[in-house]
Amino acid sequence: MDKIKEFFKTFLLIELLKGMALTGRYMFARKITVQFPEEKTPQSFRFRGLHAQRRYANGEERCIGCKLCEAVCPALAIKIEVAERDDGTRRTTQYDIDLTKCIFCGFCEESCPVDAIVETRVFEYHGESREDLYYTKPMLLAVGAKHEAQIAKDRAADAKYR
Ligand code: SF4
Ligand code: SF4
Repeated sequence: MDKIKEFFKTFLLIELLKGMALTGRYMFARKITVQFPEEKTPQSFRFRGLHAQRRYANGEERCIGCKLCEAVCPALAIKIEVAERDDGTRRTTQYDIDLTKCIFCGFCEESCPVDAIVETRVFEYHGESREDLYYTKPMLLAVGAKHEAQIAKDRAADAKYR
């Protein structure tokens, strides 16, 4: 009996008609394609894009070189060297992130006790070679300086849900 049913289904092109009906339904449905880059989809305040290192309002680096982010990074993408300054505080002498290794998991920013390393909303960046995607401390601080206003706003929004 099943075989007869299958025969008629095939003979009458039922599956094909079902497929065409589905295509036809979506042909007249509301389009969800956006015209990037002129149009953009909404972003969450927890969006995990390009990394940044932040400073306090007085210009002091937030990062205290505790290396928690380096330890927690599953991709081993972070490299940190630390030294003590004349005033007895610790600061990094090297803070690099290899973005070709990074999987944008956000563990580094989650682990940071002083909100120093963060992931910004920036996703429109690229590199012509692997070296271009090796972000050093000055590069990360520059990203932080450029986007601090948005970063601070996003962190405040995030804090409301914790
Ligand atoms: S986002 Fe994840 S993979 Fe990327 S540097 Fe941070 S901890 Fe490592
Ligand atoms: S970015 Fe944060 S977690 Fe990483 S070394 Fe600096 S203070 Fe520690």
